[in-house]
Amino acid sequence: MEELRIFAPATVANLSCGFDVLGCCLDNVGDEMLVRKNNLNQLRITRITGEELPMDIDKNVAGVAVLSLLKRLGSDQGFDIEIHKKIKSGSGIGSSAASSAGAVFAVNKLLDEPFSPKELILFAMEGERLASGNPHADNVAPALLGGFSLVKSYEPFEVLSLPSPEELRMVILHPLIEIRTKDSRAIIKQNVSLVKAIAQWGNLGAFVSALYTNDYDLLGRSLKDEIVEPIRSILIPYYDRLDEVAMEAGALGFGISGSGPSVYALCRGEENAVKVKDAIADFYKDQDIDFQLHLSKINSNGIRIL
Ligand code: ADP
Repeated sequence: MEELRIFAPATVANLSCGFDVLGCCLDNVGDEMLVRKNNLNQLRITRITGEELPMDIDKNVAGVAVLSLLKRLGSDQGFDIEIHKKIKSGSGIGSSAASSAGAVFAVNKLLDEPFSPKELILFAMEGERLASGNPHADNVAPALLGGFSLVKSYEPFEVLSLPSPEELRMVILHPLIEIRTKDSRAIIKQNVSLVKAIAQWGNLGAFVSALYTNDYDLLGRSLKDEIVEPIRSILIPYYDRLDEVAMEAGALGFGISGSGPSVYALCRGEENAVKVKDAIADFYKDQDIDFQLHLSKINSNGIRIL
């Protein structure tokens, strides 16, 4: 195999009670990438469409992630990478993660799969280190593994794949404003009260149980974030009203996607998700902010070969 065209999916991380540890993979929102072997012993980003991003391999997350893979393998095989961006960078739905995960997935396939999907997460995390200064896994893991991923620990590194109930849908609102990841990190408090910590791990445990038992009501009741959301949500215009609008339209739960500005509503079934999407659109069209709205299934396979 000399070249591969792939779909690199968007992901929702920091899922409420799973702040920093729980993410999931979207099905119809994502970038396309074309990765091709070259005979130049050189890694190159040859084309980027849809966004202004660095072509320099040391400055593009796709380049950095692949370099770390090739270094581990001791390989000097050259590759040309094309990135066709559909996910806006800085949206909070894993734009950088899609490129990092997509690039290492394709290169690994073209090299006859020396690494398992879980091993690829570690290389993709090097791209995340470049994007945000923090090599976190809660976007790249669901992009590579599909479904819901739980980052149990970094040392030792352990990621678990969780099941995704069939009827789940995600509605994503992306207000087209910029929130710098640095700013949204800076306002988080570093200490948590025991009362809030207990509420959070109670909810996270219940959420994981509900994924295994297809208990949609419990999923909804557990999607709460007592710790980060009350602070971060002040950066997102009309956050509280959006929460009410989504819940009144029947969403199971509502929260911030990644570090914002995107927000998500988790829904049961296509019909309800359309209702929630329409209600959010109806509310937001009267505000002074441009936006994009997505409705997606949970993608249980992750990156797709096209
Ligand atoms: P998101 O959560 O949507 O991924 P981030 O703020 O974490 O947004 O990452 C975007 C940052 O990563 C931007 O500074 C962008 O310039 C940088 N970046 C480098 N390469 C890429 C790429 N291939 N795709 C997206 N962002 C990239």
